[in-house]
Amino acid sequence: MTQAVRAMQAGGPEVLEFGEIETPKPGPGEVLVNVEAAGVNFIDTYRRSGVYPMEYPHVVGVEGTGYIAEVGEGIESWQVGDRVAWHEGPGSYATQVVVNADFLLRVPEGVSAEVAAAMPLQGLTAQYLATSSHEIKPGQTALVHAGAGGVGLLLTQIIKHLGGNVISTVSTDEKAELSRKAGADDVFLYGEGVDITAKVKELTDGEGVDVAYDGVGKDTFDASLASIKPLGSMVLFGGASGQVPPFDIQRLNSSGGIFLSRPSLAWFVRSSEELAKRSAMLFNGIEHGWLNFRVGATFALADAADAHRALEGRETTGKVVLTA
Ligand code: NDP
Repeated sequence: MTQAVRAMQAGGPEVLEFGEIETPKPGPGEVLVNVEAAGVNFIDTYRRSGVYPMEYPHVVGVEGTGYIAEVGEGIESWQVGDRVAWHEGPGSYATQVVVNADFLLRVPEGVSAEVAAAMPLQGLTAQYLATSSHEIKPGQTALVHAGAGGVGLLLTQIIKHLGGNVISTVSTDEKAELSRKAGADDVFLYGEGVDITAKVKELTDGEGVDVAYDGVGKDTFDASLASIKPLGSMVLFGGASGQVPPFDIQRLNSSGGIFLSRPSLAWFVRSSEELAKRSAMLFNGIEHGWLNFRVGATFALADAADAHRALEGRETTGKVVLTA
């Protein structure tokens, strides 16, 4: 049997139930993994709450790290005992999970389980945002909301590595300190009553930023759009504060011919070559010391509901992971 956390119905963190399920069997092209640590992500909360349509009950989680325990038919490049991580393995809040081999990354032994669990989803997202959604060129300035969050801290470090400048927003002084340590050039608190656009314009001599990376969504989208210079990029990649309502496309014209995109990681890792190339940049960053994964909190698998409360309650910094 496998220990697992299931969302019994759509709802708040209280719908999560820790218990035992039948150990899943890997089918063709799949592997069974003994999970060392699972990553906690916003997508888990969207699926738990029903923002993203799901069947219930379902085992929660998509990301984790561990050792392969069994390989399915047709698997040639992976063996029992290999250490792996994955960004798309539904049912990862468990002691064992079946993962499609297309989504596996090889994890070096020197990397801790917490960091390996933190890497796939937030790391690859930060990587594609800075290199593909809007490719950062040296000297460009980016606005990064939630600068002390999982994606925020990594995105800031990658933008700096590529020669860009970062203006970040956060909700507390403690988070501001973390964002600065990650390399943000300017950080400000974006609480109630703060005019984000005015602040960004002030910090950019009235020009605006080349790109706004916005994972906060509903509460910041309008201000982000108004903070971008003509022909800059608006990259909306999430909705931590809620989803952005339907949008009049003419606003892109009146805002300066802005390039708007709403990307998702899946589109940037469609082949194993692309997945390997993007993750190689992250492992390179860890190895050479320019990329630091902050694991802000570790919860026991049985306390997954508390992990969701902390993430949704803006109490976390960096990555949140679950261990069995
Ligand atoms: P974070 O660690 O960044 O946590 C979210 C942060 O958002 C909070 O800590 C908080 O920071 C800020 N926030 C602002 N308003 C709210 C609110 N009302 N409720 C909760 N949080 C709020 O999470 P992740 O790094 O895991 O994810 C960041 C975003 O990236 C999410 O929207 C997620 O869905 C998205 N994402 C998108 C992917 C993609 O490919 N499109 C892939 C992975 C993640 P503060 O307190 O400083 O305001």
